[in-house]
Amino acid sequence: MVQPKYKRVLIKLSGEALAGERGIGIDLPTVQAMAREIKEVAESGVEVALVIGGGNLWRGEPAAQAGMDRVQADYTGMLGTVMNALVMADSLQQEGIDTRVQTAIAMHNVAEPYIRGRALRHLEKDRVVIFGAGIGSPYFSTDTTAALRAAEIEADAILMAKNGVDGIYNDDPRHNADAVKFDELTHGEVIKRGLKIMDATASAISMDNDIDLVVFNMNQPGNIKRVVFGEHIGTTVSNKAE
Ligand code: UDP
Repeated sequence: MVQPKYKRVLIKLSGEALAGERGIGIDLPTVQAMAREIKEVAESGVEVALVIGGGNLWRGEPAAQAGMDRVQADYTGMLGTVMNALVMADSLQQEGIDTRVQTAIAMHNVAEPYIRGRALRHLEKDRVVIFGAGIGSPYFSTDTTAALRAAEIEADAILMAKNGVDGIYNDDPRHNADAVKFDELTHGEVIKRGLKIMDATASAISMDNDIDLVVFNMNQPGNIKRVVFGEHIGTTVSNKAE
């Protein structure tokens, strides 16, 4: 039997992954479809942690540019990620996958607080753990959250599921038809070339902690499982030289 390539993964979904065709808000059928994809992975014996962004509901930076206090705007964004986490947890639970939400901002009535040791126990018991509320601090992103939590739980890789983009290109493929896709890159190259795949803080944490990152298109059903089983799709970023 083919074995999964990874034992423990952290899947990063942007908030837009839950928005479906509309691009904003939460589209329940879209979340349910994503949950079925994640279920397949969890049932193949891989431990799964999830970080879901909040960009489908709110982003702090544009709100600050429009006149809101940046810190308040970022807290609003972090709360958005908790809404996404709760909806995804419900969909996974309904698919029969035991799921726990842990938040970096305490909200005891709706979720567990983030406690690393407890997250590890959940993973060992094959529960999916969703990390909500980012890292709990303004001026950070959920990409950085993904890198930090992946380091903390010693995930084998971050699987970055992108909306309609099938990897990392040397230019934006939506605007430049000649843009070329990379199969492999190093974290150092991503930072040096300023490739906009995750923010620089997230890349630096991944580089310093030697965490592999796989960037792939989530719009193609089955892709998360393909990556987990080592099929070479998308772009892999690691510390190994090409
Ligand atoms: N955010 C934050 N600190 C964190 C994580 C997120 O302040 O640790 C806020 C920030 O305002 C951000 C918003 O939450 O704009 C939504 O997260 P993000 O933009 O990373 O979501 P994504 O683009 O992945 O959907």
